[in-house]
Amino acid sequence: MPVSLDIAALRARRPEGIDLAATQGDGLGCHAGKNAMRAAAEVAGLSGTLEQYRRDYPAGPHDQPQSMCPAFGSLRVGLRMRRTMTILSGSACCVYGLTFTSHFYGARRSVGYVPFNSETLVTGKLFEDIREAVHASAKPQDYDAIVVINLCVPTASGVPLRLLPKQIDGVRVIGIDVPGFGVPTHAEAKDVLAGAMLKFARSEAENGPVQAPRGGRSERPSVALLGEMFPVDPVVIGALLEPLGLSAGPVVPTREWRELYGALDAAAVAAIHPFYTASVREFEAAGRPVVSSAPVGHDGTADWLAAIGKACDVPQEKIAAAQNRLLPAIRGALSAAPIRGRITLSGYEGSELLVARLLVESGAEVPYVGTACPRTPWSEPDRTWLEERGVTIRYRASLEDDLAAFEEFRPDLAIGTTPVVQKAKEAGTPALYFTNLISARPLMGAAGAGSLAKVVNAALANRPRFDAMRAFFEGVGTGHAAGIWQDVPTRKAAPKAAAPLKPIGEMV
Ligand code: SF4
Repeated sequence: MPVSLDIAALRARRPEGIDLAATQGDGLGCHAGKNAMRAAAEVAGLSGTLEQYRRDYPAGPHDQPQSMCPAFGSLRVGLRMRRTMTILSGSACCVYGLTFTSHFYGARRSVGYVPFNSETLVTGKLFEDIREAVHASAKPQDYDAIVVINLCVPTASGVPLRLLPKQIDGVRVIGIDVPGFGVPTHAEAKDVLAGAMLKFARSEAENGPVQAPRGGRSERPSVALLGEMFPVDPVVIGALLEPLGLSAGPVVPTREWRELYGALDAAAVAAIHPFYTASVREFEAAGRPVVSSAPVGHDGTADWLAAIGKACDVPQEKIAAAQNRLLPAIRGALSAAPIRGRITLSGYEGSELLVARLLVESGAEVPYVGTACPRTPWSEPDRTWLEERGVTIRYRASLEDDLAAFEEFRPDLAIGTTPVVQKAKEAGTPALYFTNLISARPLMGAAGAGSLAKVVNAALANRPRFDAMRAFFEGVGTGHAAGIWQDVPTRKAAPKAAAPLKPIGEMV
């Protein structure tokens, strides 16, 4: 049902923080438009939150890349944590899609949902329902934390999660707004929740003793790792840190609450994925230095070891010794598994520049890298390194950017999102889906070099099969032959040009 918005009327807010006008009809759905939703949320008292999001997750050159519902990022982070309950507050269609996607990606926990209708929004009963659900769920024997996520409509309507109790019987309550009109990508939505949790944990640590890590504190100073990685990568990073006298600390987003304390206790933080702006703010507030880039390939690992060593006050001789010990194996792995071919690369995971570095060091020609994430200080070493080698980087890349790059560079292999892969395969070009096939493998150290080359070379070798398939199916199921037919389809004559429409005033 279309909703007409009257911003002046929106100002007639209820004292509880609920926008009456914003809740008329079926509320502010996607159809209300991004600007209308944002304006309503600002009127509803969310201007501070939206302004923070604007600073943390800058838009442009495009308004917003095409990607899945951003809230999926926060939901996924909550669902992957032990003893954590995640509750959604939003339109049923959004919750259906998010729940479906969560379980498609193997969530092992239920998604909580507090439904609403126009009446419960108008009367403020939705907030009461959420509070009731939180109280009913806050059982310390089951949970360390409850995460409540406001989706677009409750955010635009100003449902005030900030008024939820901070703790109930020792169970933390984290309420966050993750609207599609404020958080550009699902990657950055992971940061919204990780940052909120780090902030909470930091204030706990500042106010008294907190739980030690499950396996006890490491004897060596640790480096916290920022970004979801393939499980082998933290192990590989741990081995790279060992000659520096350091150890790999927790990965943020963490898998349980107590790991947040361990991460905040680290000697330094490695921003492996470069979009965790809110999380970095919490680490910096805790006095932890943050190191850019990641140990990918030969050059990336050499620079990263030097930067981590410097951040942790490791003597220069020790850094040089670690480099001398580790780098030959990486160079060996790269030269043992060369990649020959032109590859375009795009994705929305945040690790696109790292993968591109590894491809270039393996011998591939990479003319274009598109990422849905913004340019940040933590990927600057990667940008510089790639641009020095002639790679064009597009931040906040749109699907149109990625497709235009495919058309322009005519690669031997396209690595990208689903529609890019589809387009490439239609054109008979081998293609790999970034999320499932590239970011789900090791990238760091020598293990990354060998593993990436294996999948890329297998895909490149598929070209003759694509050519054979295209030749065999040429003209089948396309154009006039598309659809289901009882008889052999025949090409119809082109329709005659339609007569120009008369203006309505002339009709009788
Ligand atoms: S929560 Fe917002 S961005 Fe996500 S599916 Fe619903 S309307 Fe779209």
